[in-house]
Amino acid sequence: MKNYYVMTLFPEMIQNVVKESITGRAIEKGLMQVKAYDIRNFTKDAHNHVDDYPYGGGAGMLMQVQPIVDCYQHIVSEIGHKPRVLFMSPQGRTFNQQMAEELAKEDNLIFLCGHYEGVDERALEILEVENVSIGDYVLTGGELPALSMIDSISRLVHGVLNKDASHEIESFSDGLLEYPQYTRPAEYNGLKVPDILLSGDHKKVDEWRHAQSLLRTKERRPDLYAAYVAANPEEFAPPKKRRKRVHRACNSE
Ligand code: SAM
Repeated sequence: MKNYYVMTLFPEMIQNVVKESITGRAIEKGLMQVKAYDIRNFTKDAHNHVDDYPYGGGAGMLMQVQPIVDCYQHIVSEIGHKPRVLFMSPQGRTFNQQMAEELAKEDNLIFLCGHYEGVDERALEILEVENVSIGDYVLTGGELPALSMIDSISRLVHGVLNKDASHEIESFSDGLLEYPQYTRPAEYNGLKVPDILLSGDHKKVDEWRHAQSLLRTKERRPDLYAAYVAANPEEFAPPKKRRKRVHRACNSE
């Protein structure tokens, strides 16, 4: 059972999304749980405030250290040990499929969602966070990044997808983008599914798909394509020339 703990000011945003579709079914099957903790419940402020003005001035408000640390300690005491803590931050390492695969091995993960202008730096030091970004753009809060990460991590957990193999042959799993796919009907408004896919020849279908993946990756993600070529030199090496047989005259001296 995988346990994902989300520290947030908007717990309903988390719960309303994860209860749907594949994550919802995984939760029902007991493969994972996603618990959202309202940081506001841990404030000691008489007016339930969780944010304040930044020292030194500047625009916006910052989430205060005390409610975050108390919420975190509550979760850690529930788990019994300190798991990895991921702080959703545009300043973090960019989340990718490789990171999703690595995080899918963890049984417990804490996600800290910032809001407003961010979080008092001392909270991040105390929680010893890993900063993770979902891309070079700024959102209003860490809830959507946390949800994106939970979605992509959980689908790698054994049993969450109907066929576990389906995530092994999709974009990024082998460093390439996935090939184009089609379903019925075989023809729509004159647009036909490539004949090879209807041929029943699995070897040829695999070869076609691999060639399409290469083509698509080269066109859409030249950076990934270059990395793939560098990692698989044998696939791109020119075919070895057959050595000509040298017919030596048999000079039996
Ligand atoms: N002032 C912060 C900065 O410049 O780094 C940005 C704060 S942002 C408005 C509020 C919160 O949204 C952040 O604390 C973070 O939790 C979340 N956030 C925004 N963009 C994000 C991104 N690209 N990836 C992950 N989290 C993000």
